Amino acid sequence: MGKISLNQVTKSFGDVQVIPPLDLDINEGEFVVFVGPSGCGKSTLLRLIAGLEDTTSGHISINDQDATTLPPAKRGLAMVFQSYALYPHMSVRKNIAFPMRMAGVDEATQKAKIDAAAAALNLTDYLDRKPGQLSGGQRQRVAIGRAIVREPAAFLFDEPLSNLDAALRVGMRLEIMELHKKLETTMIYVTHDQVEAMTMADKIVVLQAGVIEQVGSPLELYHSPRNKFVAGFIGSPK
Ligand code: ADP
Ligand code: MG
Repeated sequence: MGKISLNQVTKSFGDVQVIPPLDLDINEGEFVVFVGPSGCGKSTLLRLIAGLEDTTSGHISINDQDATTLPPAKRGLAMVFQSYALYPHMSVRKNIAFPMRMAGVDEATQKAKIDAAAAALNLTDYLDRKPGQLSGGQRQRVAIGRAIVREPAAFLFDEPLSNLDAALRVGMRLEIMELHKKLETTMIYVTHDQVEAMTMADKIVVLQAGVIEQVGSPLELYHSPRNKFVAGFIGSPK
């Protein structure tokens, strides 16, 4: 399951409302991309869904349960950070095992899940290395592996590839899409990169100043942009 609904959600920092009332439905298994210029509220929206920020008003539900005030750990979602946040002194295996150890999962189950995650992410040969002995792309995959073993209802990515060089980014995009196919889990992916949005998304959410300008498939946005902002941002001929 990975159904997420936002109902009249707002967010203010002090007196500044960065997200005016916003409604959004994300369906199970969808690959949803939040796209828009820097400062438009993409990260804030993702953090509200993750529970890393409190909503100022409105409601968030996850799998039809009210999650508005649930702490992040109880939402069943996995946030993959751009800075990897791996433990440098632990092996890949221990990094991936970490959330399961914390949750008291038995050793045999841990091993089975680590092996499955490593196979899905092409990390089988790297399990005994430390993060410092890995490339940027491999480190990113370890961070995803650590999320996979918790079997989240959805993965949340905030510009996960912005630390990687251009060539590596292309490969990592493909790997994330491959992973989405394999796992069939909802993924929400934040980027300011139109090309990334158009090539990866089932559904694109175009944001400007905290407002959803349009929601649609890449082709819908391309052929029928609702306004000049969407047309210009997506590079539509209209
Ligand atoms: P994006 O991820 O699209 O670049 P953000 O969600 O980071 O945008 O920011 C949206 C707006 O909210 C910006 O104007 C930013 O300055 C503001 N903002 C984000 N986080 C905070 C915060 N903790 N305190 C005050 N303002 C913030
Ligand atoms: Mg951001």
